[in-house]
Amino acid sequence: MYRQTAKKRRAQERRNFNTVDYDGNNSSSPYYSTAYPFRLNSYATPPLFEITLDQFEQWAIDRMKVLGEIESRLARNQTLTELETALKPLINELLPLNSNRLQQRDGNGGLTVEIKNGKTFKFDENNEEHRRLKDHYSHFILRLAFCRSEELRQRFIRAETALFKIRYNTDDPKDRAMFVKSLDLDWEPVSNEEILELQDKLIAASGAKSLNDANNVMQEPGQSSYFKVDFERVADLVENRRVFLRRGKAYVPISYQQSMVVADFSANLEKALIQTVRALPRLDEDDRLVPLLNHLAQGFSATSKYLQDEAAAGREGEITASMVDKLVDPHFPLCMKTMHNALVSNHHLKYEARRQYGLFLKWIGLDVEEAVKFWRTHFSNITDDKFTKEYRYNIRHQYGLEGGRINYKPMSCIDIANGPRPARGDSHGCPYRSFSTENLVTALQKMGITDKQELTTIKNNVDSHHYHVACTRVYELTHKQDKTVYVDSITHPNQYFDRSYAAMKQSLENGASN
Ligand code: SF4
Repeated sequence: MYRQTAKKRRAQERRNFNTVDYDGNNSSSPYYSTAYPFRLNSYATPPLFEITLDQFEQWAIDRMKVLGEIESRLARNQTLTELETALKPLINELLPLNSNRLQQRDGNGGLTVEIKNGKTFKFDENNEEHRRLKDHYSHFILRLAFCRSEELRQRFIRAETALFKIRYNTDDPKDRAMFVKSLDLDWEPVSNEEILELQDKLIAASGAKSLNDANNVMQEPGQSSYFKVDFERVADLVENRRVFLRRGKAYVPISYQQSMVVADFSANLEKALIQTVRALPRLDEDDRLVPLLNHLAQGFSATSKYLQDEAAAGREGEITASMVDKLVDPHFPLCMKTMHNALVSNHHLKYEARRQYGLFLKWIGLDVEEAVKFWRTHFSNITDDKFTKEYRYNIRHQYGLEGGRINYKPMSCIDIANGPRPARGDSHGCPYRSFSTENLVTALQKMGITDKQELTTIKNNVDSHHYHVACTRVYELTHKQDKTVYVDSITHPNQYFDRSYAAMKQSLENGASN
């Protein structure tokens, strides 16, 4: 039955693509997109338009940032309402979509759509068609990246389904009703006469006091409050005796529509991902796309949208060598804290740690003279001569003053997690990944996190390889003065510092003005 429904849906989507009206006159809606009639997309058909390789990459990265943030917040048990509020700015920035009602047609009264060979559209960067095209493409590109293992598939489905739910809930009711109708889901509206005839049974099945209570949802005028489907489609509702059954049909209140549409979305996506993985070997010869897709799959969890240049700007010179020791405890993430503590204990750090920690310090605002001073002070067991010969050059190199004169940037969480694993005696890397459970718990307790439930949640995040989620939770627990409730998850050590430092400054300013 699913196959039949999916087939019908694909046929409908093909009809949508082919029903081109350049003037949009055949629509009763103020905005009519020829290729994408709805803001919501069930992604039943792949996109057929040409895009550049740059768009291919950038659109996929943008979507992945949104999905990564969704995953991180789901792992922190945020509710859908919290997700909706928290993700609004990110979605508006990276994957914005307007409802048909809100979206005004272009000022000159025409849509920016051109047709070539009867099929290909050209989209203007700023119009709604283009945004929907980006949404469509980015979903399908990530299917290619995340179909490769059961774990990736499940994570992708979970995040995509949450994104779909957010969009479904925030869609214009009329647009949403039109979208659901277009899905052709084999739902048959129950006529008012039949509802009246069966009302006692419908009320009894729902466990409510009246039909209104049973169907507490806003409806479009003329929309039936019940629909019938084959009972196998709603097995869970049947099992829990939540619906009335007659002649093989379940009578489902419209209030369950969202969960059914969402369940269908997940089930169809799961099947599509399996089909995609079977077709994947055909891509293996494409040496432009395969490395890109591999890279995307690796970076799902913690793609950083942290803008290093902006963050570092304005603080250069503000941080001096002598301040660093005092900044560690309140403001450094566990990775940098670990390397700093190793430096203080051993008066030395190995190459990888010097690279990670040195670039982090550079980007918190330590200029090159102060950096040399900092490392010289801490490397107190060696002579000036040895320091100059073996370390001074490397420090200046990190600042782009020696060798190839590259202005190196600090490593993001994903760079660190995917970088060389620390061996015995090393202190670099992400401690959430490299520490034993015992050592991690001790480190967290030293940071003041002693609540058993919180420690268990963090350990669970670590067990499921969500290191940045664990780090974000640690940030939240140790920075209760940071009143910015809905901010991005931690995906970069310097982001952790910037947030912490800014929150401290803000609370000092607030204290001064009170
Ligand atoms: Fe450092 Fe990132 Fe690991 Fe946090 S998640 S400890 S910031 S590498």
